[in-house]
This record gives sequence, C-alpha cells and structure tokens, in this order.
Amino acid sequence: MTFPSPPPVFDASPESILQEAHRLLDHARSVQDQLARTITPDTATLANTLLPVAHEQNERLYERHMLEFYQSVSTDSDVREASREAERLFSELETELSMRGDMARLVKAVHEKNEDLDEECRRLLDQQLLKYKHNGLHLAEQDRQRLQHIRKELGEIKAEFEKNLSEHSGGIDFTKEQLDGLPDDDLARLESDAEGRYNLSFRPAHVGPVLSHVRNGMTRRKVYIGNVNKCNENVPLLEKAIALRDEAARLLGYVHHAEYRLEDKMEKSPEKINEFLEDVRAKLVPKGRAAIERLKELKAEELNARGEENDGKFYLWDQSYYSRILTQRDYAVDHEKLAEYFPLDWTIERMLEIFAKLMRMSFHRVPTDEGSGNEKLTWHEDVRIFAVYDDFVENGVEQKGFLGYLYMDLHPRPGKCPGLCDLSIHPGFISPTTHTRVNFPCTCLITNFPKSPTTKPTLLTHSDLWQLFHELGHGIHDLVSKTRFACFHGPETAQDFCEAPSQMLEKFCWTEPVLRILGRHWSCLGEETRMLWRGEHPNEDLPSQTIPEELIDGLLKSQHANRPLFWLQSLHIALFDMAVHQPSSHEEAKEMNTTKLWNNLKSEILGMHGPEGDEWGHGQAIFGHLFSGYDAGFYSYLSSQVYACDMFAAKFEADPLNPEVGMRWRREVLAKGGARDEMVGMRRFLGREVGREAFGGWLGV
Ligand SMILES: [Zn+2]
Repeated sequence: MTFPSPPPVFDASPESILQEAHRLLDHARSVQDQLARTITPDTATLANTLLPVAHEQNERLYERHMLEFYQSVSTDSDVREASREAERLFSELETELSMRGDMARLVKAVHEKNEDLDEECRRLLDQQLLKYKHNGLHLAEQDRQRLQHIRKELGEIKAEFEKNLSEHSGGIDFTKEQLDGLPDDDLARLESDAEGRYNLSFRPAHVGPVLSHVRNGMTRRKVYIGNVNKCNENVPLLEKAIALRDEAARLLGYVHHAEYRLEDKMEKSPEKINEFLEDVRAKLVPKGRAAIERLKELKAEELNARGEENDGKFYLWDQSYYSRILTQRDYAVDHEKLAEYFPLDWTIERMLEIFAKLMRMSFHRVPTDEGSGNEKLTWHEDVRIFAVYDDFVENGVEQKGFLGYLYMDLHPRPGKCPGLCDLSIHPGFISPTTHTRVNFPCTCLITNFPKSPTTKPTLLTHSDLWQLFHELGHGIHDLVSKTRFACFHGPETAQDFCEAPSQMLEKFCWTEPVLRILGRHWSCLGEETRMLWRGEHPNEDLPSQTIPEELIDGLLKSQHANRPLFWLQSLHIALFDMAVHQPSSHEEAKEMNTTKLWNNLKSEILGMHGPEGDEWGHGQAIFGHLFSGYDAGFYSYLSSQVYACDMFAAKFEADPLNPEVGMRWRREVLAKGGARDEMVGMRRFLGREVGREAFGGWLGV
C-alpha cells in the first residue's frame, strides 16, 4: 500500500519534544518580529501581514498537536511530562503573541482597509482582532495592567479550584446492612475494616452506584449531602472569580462577563440565550413534574411493600434510585443481555462500515505488527491505524482521494488518559501554494475498554455504544474537513456548535436499522467463541445471532423515560451559569451568594425536595465546568442538542443510512469545520432555518 503522505513516526524522546517545541516558538516569534520591522500600518494587507502569520500558525499547529498528544498516550512517563511542558510553552506563547501591540496595530490597519476577502479569511481576520480586543490592547496602560493582573489572579484561582476538586478526601463509613442493594462488584471496590464497616469516598465511582442502588433512603441522603459539601473551600474561590470576571469584562467595555464570553460564539447575544433557556424551561418543567409524580408512586409502592413510613415527599437523593427501578420494571431493558450483542471488535468494524457507506469513504488497515517494518508508526502494540480515502463518483469520475489517518487506541494501560475521547494528532490544512491538501489530518479514537484475558470478547453496553459513535464522529469530522487554516479544521468550530455533529450521530444508536447492523451475539463470531459459550452454558441452546426483537423494542421505548429529568439538571446548571455571569452591576457581582442561588434554582427547576433551608449544600463548588472554559457557555450542551435533534429528525430519522443525505451532511456541515458560519452550513443542509421542535419531540415534550 502506498500513501500520498506517510503516517507519522512515534519515536519522540523528552529532549526531542522540547527541542521541537522551542524551535516552533522561536520561529513564531521571528515571523512576527520580521513583519513588525518591515510592514507599517500604511503598507499592511491581508497578503503581506495576516497570511504569513496564518501560515506560520498552520505549520505550528500541525506539529503542536502531535507534541501535546504524547501526554495522553505515551508509555514513557518522561515523554508524557515533556509533552505537558510543551503544552504549557505553547499556551504561554499564545498569550505572548496576543499581547503584541505592534502586530495588533498592523492587523487593525488591514481590517480598516476593508479588502474584498473570502469568508475563511474574513473569519481569520475577525478572530485575530477579537483576541487583541479581549487582551485589552485598546485600553490605556493602567487599565491594561489591571486586566493582566486579574487574568493572572483568575489563573491561580482556577488552579486552586481544580486542585481542591481532584484532591478532596473525606467520606463516610457504613455497615453492609446500610449499603443493602449495592451490587457486589461495587461493594468489593470499597475499603472495609475489621468490624465490617465500609468506607465510602465521595469519588463519582463510589457515589453513583450508591445513589442508584442502595435501598436505605437515609444512606442515600447522607451520601448526597456529603458529596455536595465535599469541596466547600471552593465557594469563596468561585465567588471571587465571578467578581473578577465581571470587573475584567467592564474594563474591556462589556456590560458583563456573559456579553464578553458570547462574542466568539455562534449565538452572540445573551438575551437570545436567556430567551432560549426560558423556552426550554417552560416546556421541560411540566414534563419533569409528571416524571416525578410517576417516580413518587413507585416510591410509595416500594416503601409500602417494605412496611416503611412514607412522608409523601420525593427527594433529590431518590431520583437515581427510582429512575433505575422504573426503567427495569416498565421497559424490561436488560442491559447485560443487550451487551452480549456488542462485542468490541465486531461492533467497531461495523461502525466503520456505517460511516463508510454514509459518507462515501473507505478505511484500510495499515499493518503494524512485528515484522511489518511499521512498528514505529504506533506508540503501543495495541494501536490500530487505518488509511482513509474518498470513495464516490462525481461527474462520472471515481473519487479516491486520500483523506488522512484514523488511529484507535482502545485498551487501558498505566499513564494513558482515562475515558473516551477523540484527539487530533495533526490537523489538516490546504497548502497556500498548491491549493491542495498536502498536510493530512491524523486523528485518534481513545477508549479504555478492558482487554479480555480470554478469547471471550470485550462487550459494550448500549451507553458505551452511543458514546463510541459520538467520539468516532469527532474523528470523522476531523478526517473529512478541508480548510485553508488549521485553526478552523474539523471540530475547531464555535464552542456552542462543536458537539452538535457528534450529538446527532449518537441518535443513530437509537434506531433499529443501525442497531441491527452493529449487533451480533458474541458466541456467533466463530467456532472458538461458540465453544466458549457452550462451555459457559452447557444445557442451553445457542442464542440467536441477531438482537431479539423485544430487546430492541424495550430499549427504544425506554429512551424517553429519564430524559426530562436528565435535561432539567443541565438546564439548572445553564441557568445558574448565565445568572452569575450577568449581574446588573459590579456591586451585585461582588455580593453574589452563589449557594442560595444554586439551591433555590435547583428546587425551582427540578421540583424535588432537599433538606430545609437554602444553604444545606454547595453543589456549585464541585462543578468544574465553570473553570474549564464553559463559563457563560454551559448552555452549549442544550443548544447544540437542539441543532443535533433538528438535523437528525429532518434528514436521517426516516432513513438513517441514506448516502445522499450523508454526503450532503459531510459537504455542508462537516467539511467546512469552523471556516464558515456554522449556522449557514446547517441552513444549507436543512434547506431552511434551524428549529426547536425536534428537540421537544426528542425530550418527549
Ligand atoms: Zn464530544
């Protein structure tokens, strides 16, 4: 197999990573120094000022992504450390470059010349100007210094908030009886002492199973309240950050932090976001109340059967527990049984087939095993590489263009980043001289499914399945995107759009045709697995190869059951986030009582009881998103879901695997990355404005 561009070699050492990072840093500085020396505001144009900066940035981002990628996957801790250090250096460079007054004057001059620009260049120019504005380059010296001081202080607060969140200790001891209902596997994960008391920490892996399985309401209550009080030292940090953000926004000339933060989003107006959230609230709250009534009946029945007293209230710590029972009882979804139909390797191969068919592309495995001569193309023997090509006919001509490389790193190992995600190794961009793409994207799907020690395959739950589809969707976005500038490549779109394509793809895993393609009982993969199954089930018939009708039926019916309550939680956070970042005066920002606001909003939105009063817990203090770039941006999870629902319902729901629709989606929505107004792409795909109705339908509203 030959490739237009060979896959990268993963042989970096800690020294080579830092050397390469410094080379790129020096080059970036020298390009801008040179421009500042030779160009004046009178002579500055897009071609002689902005494009050289953008081309340097293209080359830098191309290498930077890979240098930073090592920290997530390398088997060598020194390499991971060097990769983190490189990330720090690049991020410092970004700050340094966006503080350059000499370059800001040139870019402003280009803007004032009002040249006739294509959309991607226009967006590049706007983005650059916004960076300078957000760094206060238009301010008087004293104000700019104050701004820098605030930014520094905010950085320190963020670090402390996150450190508290990851290092909190504390927990509660329970007897086995108090934990009655907790599955054996979860119980086995708890430390226990000689008296048989189990220590429960407030880590999510401990808290989650207790809230959904433990029968004793008092145990759930203690864990719930303990959890939202585990990081109370973060409350003053958050409140200080809110006041500082407000001060910075006002210094820069905005009415509040939300207005400042929304300026680079797709929806730029806080009023529109407020209106959107109120609309969702009006539709969703009644649905949530109805869901609670149903859970309340279930609670009454259950307590009655156990001969326990019922005070008629439904508490915050009742929700996970009774929701789980409801799904099991009313929809008979046996998730363990369902997982038997999704063996990891089989399912992933089928996923690639679906993407190949839908978006007309082909995946070819690159051999990397011992003796192939390609060992250095991966960072671990488990990693798989696929070369990805176009596969369609245009104007009677077969298109087989090379798109890039897809990597898969599926199993856990020490030092590897946890969870599921897709990371860019190289962003692609179109060459400024040849106008073709010679720098191809490389993207990596990362999962942590345990590797099976036997020939029995690793099995995926339905929730693994749709999350995999989601993350692979980010990878495909990366591969099919074609932009001039790496900073707009693939999922590098506005924050309030970037999840929409993947949220849309998740919905494929809730359709019968896709489940039919993805599923096959693990015992039917071959003779070996058949024997293994027979050994485990000596007196039973072989299961059916395809997923039984009733399993799919139950699953599809269950999807609306818990959605309103789940999305009410997101709505609560989004409303809180917008409220704290839109104070009417700076005084209000300084005096904000975030605890009262969080708890009062929570009981208004969710309609469940908590303890008496409004200062019993500090859930806002354990919520990391407000420091990880989602400040005045949490609404994105809801708004991008609106776009996802509309695109899916209008174009895919009736026939999810229609390649014509898939190609149109690829061309209009995915290919442009962030190089075009995302709303324009969706409008062209839909043939109309985006609407909110489908979101309501999907929520069952
Ligand atoms: Zn995502």
